[in-house]
Amino acid sequence: MTLKERDKKHLWHPLTQHKLHPNHIAITRAKGAVLYDEEGNSYIDGIASWYTCMYGHCNPYITEKVAEQMQTLDHVVFAGFTHEPAVRLSEALVAILPENQEKIFFSDNGSTSVDVAIKMALQYHFNQGQKRPKILALEGGFHGDTFGAMSVSGLSVYNGPFEDFFIDVARVPVPTAENIEEVVALMEQLLTDNEVAAFVYEPLVQGAAAMKMHDAALLERLLLLAKSHGALTIADEVMTGFGKTGKNFASEYLTVQPDIMCLSKSLTAGLVPMAITSCSLAVYNAFLSDDMGKGFFHGHTYSANPTACAAALAGIELLQSEEIQQNIQRIIKSHATFDTRIKQHPKVRQTRQLGVIYALDLELDMERYGAARYQLFNYFMERGVCLRPLGNTIYILAPFVITAEELSKVYQVIENALEIL
Ligand SMILES: *Cc1c(COP(=O)(O)O)cnc(C)c1O
Repeated sequence: MTLKERDKKHLWHPLTQHKLHPNHIAITRAKGAVLYDEEGNSYIDGIASWYTCMYGHCNPYITEKVAEQMQTLDHVVFAGFTHEPAVRLSEALVAILPENQEKIFFSDNGSTSVDVAIKMALQYHFNQGQKRPKILALEGGFHGDTFGAMSVSGLSVYNGPFEDFFIDVARVPVPTAENIEEVVALMEQLLTDNEVAAFVYEPLVQGAAAMKMHDAALLERLLLLAKSHGALTIADEVMTGFGKTGKNFASEYLTVQPDIMCLSKSLTAGLVPMAITSCSLAVYNAFLSDDMGKGFFHGHTYSANPTACAAALAGIELLQSEEIQQNIQRIIKSHATFDTRIKQHPKVRQTRQLGVIYALDLELDMERYGAARYQLFNYFMERGVCLRPLGNTIYILAPFVITAEELSKVYQVIENALEIL
């Protein structure tokens, strides 16, 4: 029996309606920007396996560092103990994060990093004798699937069974040149009673919303407004972090720095799960007290796992290498060239790019949308390219190490696909 057949017996896949989609492609190995399946087919990983393996699959530098760490210290409790990989990672991160970020708190995945951020914000105010029970978020945002993270995410048709149990969240539209004054007015109104603990946002690119992009200057106005009413700002850079936008972090495009930041996905270069919630000293100091109860009593068993820290350290080293920085510039230029060609196509409604993130919206009537999404996915896979269209959007977010030839193949397959629609 093939893996594909054996899979059906016991496995329950994420985000899947198994009755409609019983088949899963069995990947047996991966190298650089390429995935290989059990039938001997290969696929260019055009979305870096949900934007994790940005330095390439099974990158030998990273696997070597991780293997070394595994043989020295595999794991130890991070309450009451510390270790070199965590200490070095905190130093490496603080050196590249926005200037005000000083403290590093560990958890296991993007969703938990957001839950940690929300709890930090709520307790930050609570510790100072203020009850601020509300969180503000952008419409259409995605922050994860745990209860806190799901609550601050944009409402989804899939949230139905859980909505009664959400934390209290108010949402404002993503700012555009047209609606900015209305959004500012709405936000002002939501902030006036000083009940908002924090404003959560994906800076500049809303990933799961199909790589929707907004302007830094407009977002900055919302951040300033939140801050002026004493609300903390939480930048969810789980997707945008570590070079994808052309800077180490999307927050660097703004002059207003966030109080709290969430990092995961490519933090560990796609090797193992880990997440970090970083914050400013002002946030951290609100938890310092002779009173035990003012401490932050949140902790996951695998906090700061040394192996995961080693993967993250190796990833940050690669990110800062000349080779990766040149690759980033090469991909940025390559996407821009593709864009001038493809945006003329009658079936393309709109295109957008920030750094190595590229997206195009198709002219499609929504009636056909559901079908087109799977039709397109299958079309790409049959031609050796892994891209997962979101709604009527096709996006590319490939590993930084994708070659020029592989990238041309991705573009070519997209161009050819427009003809079957
Ligand atoms: C993927 C994602 C998350 C959730 O991360 P998980 O590791 O899947 O829990 C949170 N925020 C953003 C912006 C993401 O892209």
